[in-house]
Amino acid sequence: EVRLRFAPSPTGYLHVGGARTALFNWLLARKQHGTFVLRIEDTDVTRSTQESVDAIFEGMKWLGLDWDEGPFFQSDCFPVYKEYIDRLVAEGKAYKCYCTVEELEAKREKALKEGGKPKYDGTCRDLPPQEDDGRPYVIRFRTPKEGVTSWDDLIKGKISFENAELDDLIIQRTDGTPTYNFVVVVDDVTMKMTTVIRGDDHVNNTPRQILIYEALGAPVPVFAHVPMILGADKARLSKRHGATSVMAYRDMGFLPEAMVNYLVRLGWSYGDEEIFSLTDLIEKFSIENVGRSAGVFNPDKLLWLNAHYIKTGDPVRLADLLIPFLKERGVDPAQGGPDLVAVVKTLQERAKTMLELADGALFYYRDELSYDEQGVAKAFNADTPALLNALVEKLAALPALDAAQIEQAFKELMAEKGIKLGQVGPAVRLSLSGSTASPGIYEMIEVLGLAETKKRIERAIS
Ligand code: GLU
Repeated sequence: EVRLRFAPSPTGYLHVGGARTALFNWLLARKQHGTFVLRIEDTDVTRSTQESVDAIFEGMKWLGLDWDEGPFFQSDCFPVYKEYIDRLVAEGKAYKCYCTVEELEAKREKALKEGGKPKYDGTCRDLPPQEDDGRPYVIRFRTPKEGVTSWDDLIKGKISFENAELDDLIIQRTDGTPTYNFVVVVDDVTMKMTTVIRGDDHVNNTPRQILIYEALGAPVPVFAHVPMILGADKARLSKRHGATSVMAYRDMGFLPEAMVNYLVRLGWSYGDEEIFSLTDLIEKFSIENVGRSAGVFNPDKLLWLNAHYIKTGDPVRLADLLIPFLKERGVDPAQGGPDLVAVVKTLQERAKTMLELADGALFYYRDELSYDEQGVAKAFNADTPALLNALVEKLAALPALDAAQIEQAFKELMAEKGIKLGQVGPAVRLSLSGSTASPGIYEMIEVLGLAETKKRIERAIS
């Protein structure tokens, strides 16, 4: 059985890069009928916040990434880490180091001056067991001095490090707390992870972690290091390039399915196909098809996908998602006005975001429209009131107010008056919506209904 995890550090919002890592892990777990675990890496208590933990849960939920086990919190596991550290010390695989910060700093400077790479010199590595006399100490991992540590990365291929390059890593600080690289391994061992997919900013940690697995006598998982996400200027994606928080995209009117589709394609490809639902992805995703080069974040492509999902989306669901955006704009469709689902159907063809959908829907619910002045000047003339009154009469006489019959009424009016649609259409559009850009006139009339259509036309010509 495969077991994968997402292990975010709760020190901020859920970043698009983190969300992509979570998605890749989730997809592989689902595809292989394995288990997906959520682990919150909150050992750095000074930087971890509850707010950030909540933001991670919210982002995962929004994207539809559910977990089978967890959330586990590293801060709950200190006694377990302690046990593992004691075991390594007892076995001689880790040792107490009494070197002071000042001593280490002096050695570091000396090494730098001599042009070498600063590295712990092993002063305490082979000390005879010391009496515990209250001197502060850290615990270091005894890294082999010879040999090579390597792994076959599922994305990057074979990666090797000379052990001589690796330091005797501190696994316990003077205050008794364990360090990051150590707890990750203990957790991945106790949680029986088989595969670790994570950002390639962790590549340098991996050899150190592999040596710890080996020291613990635990199987080493398979690793896949995903390339970073870059901005258009090829620098690492940051706020400078726009929003990097997943939830900011929801607030900007993006749908989770567009976000998921976008994120997965940021590194993974499947022929020329662009549109993938979560279900498609579970079937088609494979880590072998994740590229080695970094993905460049392209907001236009995300927008294009979002427009696709709005256009093809279920209007009932879109209506539901639209309500908070409308409320933010002072409109509550529950208080009256046309049916929101019908409204959405008239707008989803053209809206690229939920914000555009909300802005486009406002006129349906507003009592007072502000009219586009230039449009009015062009569309209205001395004949307009009579034409619009005649139209209202025809609409009132229709057996049913549906788009097809409304169109018929327009045709009759045009034939009777000897006019073209251009002589009446724009005036109707402006009367109903206040704007020169709106959904189709027939659809609008159908959705507004006869009474409201009449009211708006009368107001516009009075
Ligand atoms: N907590 C680490 C991070 O947020 C992830 C470590 C891992 O996946 O091994 O980058």
